Amino acid sequence: MPRRFITVLRRRFPAFEQLWQRFPDNVFVIRCESDGRFVVEAINPTLAAVIGRPSEAVAGLPLGEVVPAEYLALVEGRYRACADSGEPMTYEESGGPAGAEPRIWQTLMVPAQGRSGKVDYILGISRDITALRKAEAYLRDANAALERRVAERTAELECANARLTELATRDGLTGLYNRRHLFELATREFRRVVRTGQPLAVLMLDLDHFKDINDRFGHAAGDQVLRALSHVFQTALRQTDLIGRYGGEEFLVLLPDTDAREAEHIADRLRESCATVEHRWNHQTFQCTLSIGIAHYDAERDDGLDTLLQRADHALLRAKAAGRNCLVIGG
Ligand code: GH3
Ligand code: MG
Ligand code: MG
Repeated sequence: MPRRFITVLRRRFPAFEQLWQRFPDNVFVIRCESDGRFVVEAINPTLAAVIGRPSEAVAGLPLGEVVPAEYLALVEGRYRACADSGEPMTYEESGGPAGAEPRIWQTLMVPAQGRSGKVDYILGISRDITALRKAEAYLRDANAALERRVAERTAELECANARLTELATRDGLTGLYNRRHLFELATREFRRVVRTGQPLAVLMLDLDHFKDINDRFGHAAGDQVLRALSHVFQTALRQTDLIGRYGGEEFLVLLPDTDAREAEHIADRLRESCATVEHRWNHQTFQCTLSIGIAHYDAERDDGLDTLLQRADHALLRAKAAGRNCLVIGG
């Protein structure tokens, strides 16, 4: 490669000169001296504007007189690596004059070998990608913020959905399943036992003389009793049992896979735990007893859930007639 080749190129090819003058990124040509030093052969007008010195003033200067002292070792190291390897190199770096906002540069260096095979020149193009990196960072932050916001909104919606489901399926006073949802679950359970033939017991619960409690202590006291006893019932039952508020002071319990003996045992446990709770209202204490009608699924007789519930209801009436605070098993 002839020495001062860039000057030759610019003179011989007017189009190249145009390119050199107008190229929007920094272009530089570094001469690699045989003693290992680097000399700035040429810089284009764009780079001249960046370093604030005219191209002609810089051409032919040793690298140390062009590159600021704090970057010299780094820049020299890169040129040396490129010259030694004889391979093109790209890198990204940030820097700039002290006091100014640092810029980010993306640089490509290509070594040019002479006839001997030794690298005589390094041709470089360097692009200011500060705005690009800033835009990328801004986009990344904006995306992360958007994702956070979406996650928050999703969590809020899930919460609202859970709350709506809760409202749609639970009784507001006691927190037990409401009548509508209880029927849905009971119908599903009924279909299952029709299919599988497994036992299913149904308990119809009705608080005794509840009207008297309201009359004596007021409706709010009655509400408190309903809440407290609902909790007691729920605690006394197993995870797989279903309990819901059937009406005012009536509850329906479904005991899947439960034989007659076990169902009676559970019913009596409910009756007993209800009767032993002491309720307090205005410094007075009182108790509330419970009557229970029991019915067992019978494939011969129960062609639907309603006949099973009816039999439990009749048993409950008989329990009331028998003096209350007791259970009766329906026939
Ligand atoms: P029995 O032993 O025959 O069941 O007598 P009872 O008084 O419990 O039965 P009755 O059907 O005569 O009265 C039920 C009472 O339950 C009347 C009604 O005001 C009351 N009740 C129904 N729902 C609620 C409620 O949500 N809160 C309160 N405090 N009372 C309720
Ligand atoms: Mg009742
Ligand atoms: Mg009652």
